[in-house]
Amino acid sequence: MLRKRRKIKTLILGDSFSGNVYAAQDLSNSLFLSWPGSTSALDGWGFANACIDRTPIFLEEPDCLRRLGLESSEIDYEYVLIGEEASLKDKFSLRGEETPDYTWYDLFPRTYSKVYKPVLSWCQIIKLLRNSVEVPRLYANVTSIDPKEKTVLLEGGALIEYEEIVSSIPQDLLLSRLRGVGLESIHENYAYLPYNISLIIGKIDQRIGENEVVVYALGRKRYVASHAILLKSVIDAVTKEHTLIYVLTPLRRGADKTEILVKNFSELKNLGIKVREVVFARSYLEKYGRILKLGRSPYDELLGELNIRFIGRYGSWEELSICNIIKKILSMHKRL
Ligand SMILES: Cc1cc2nc3c(=O)[nH]c(=O)nc-3n(C[C@H](O)[C@H](O)[C@H](O)COP(=O)(O)OP(=O)(O)OC[C@H]3O[C@@H](n4cnc5c(N)ncnc54)[C@H](O)[C@@H]3O)c2cc1C
Repeated sequence: MLRKRRKIKTLILGDSFSGNVYAAQDLSNSLFLSWPGSTSALDGWGFANACIDRTPIFLEEPDCLRRLGLESSEIDYEYVLIGEEASLKDKFSLRGEETPDYTWYDLFPRTYSKVYKPVLSWCQIIKLLRNSVEVPRLYANVTSIDPKEKTVLLEGGALIEYEEIVSSIPQDLLLSRLRGVGLESIHENYAYLPYNISLIIGKIDQRIGENEVVVYALGRKRYVASHAILLKSVIDAVTKEHTLIYVLTPLRRGADKTEILVKNFSELKNLGIKVREVVFARSYLEKYGRILKLGRSPYDELLGELNIRFIGRYGSWEELSICNIIKKILSMHKRL
């Protein structure tokens, strides 16, 4: 027999950056519901009594974080293209994409000579947000959502009644759970490209300043990776002479997923970067490394009628930057 829970006003799907920014504006009778084990792109790895970001993320403007009470600092962005733009693009073009958009790291230098990064790391920021937003959190798999009855059925049989949903989980995943609205071939509109993202912390000969980032865009076929990103380590006193090296590898055309971390050392060596005294090396799979909606969905009108609001990069299924996410959420609250 189904067990009914009390009615929730706002059901926030995804314990995400955007979900927490949203909830911080209005805490009244909300509930966070997230898939167990799925994380935010801002969650990091534990390292030396601190946490360290899994993905290097920069801001196009300094003011957007200030709206959340957080400070950022300016950094020089040095971009070095090795090889051809065409073969770089070829590495990260998606099925059905005629002219691939650039990735974050190729986009920045075209528009901004300076970028910004928060004074805290992103993994500290997401922790801080979660600690400060006092909304109950539930981690469970969603079996189905009935938007007409406004109920969510969880694995195990519990039922949640809601007035509205605010969703930051991948849009295709949310739609695949909707019942009674006929969204059979919805997956055809949602393209994505997984990335392997490796982080190596070690010493190199090249000097990287504290307010500097060096991005190598690897447009040569001999490199499997598309980008290598170098930042000075500011994690703790022990690693203050070390460099954070992120290597991003788009996983397309049956790219070999095994031993990428090992291969990255030889890719770096080919770049003239010899890494010594490695204190940390780890890789992870970012399933939605790049995302793209293929054409206008025949379901767009229907989605507008479902009383579901879509926030964040996955929720909107748009390459929204952190600044754009914050701006959109704050203006959404002003309109309410
Ligand atoms: C490689 C890369 C580089 C980037 N660089 C920049 C940058 O330089 N500047 C910038 O502004 N932005 C950048 N971004 C985008 C930035 O990371 C996002 O805008 C921001 O993290 C998104 O926050 P969000 O709230 O939308 O999602 P997140 O905080 O990542 O949360 C996503 C939510 O979806 C859920 N979820 C994900 N997958 C599943 C699943 N399979 N099943 C169930 N639930 C799931 C998670 O649990 C989580 O709750 C980059 C993104 C990537 C991937």
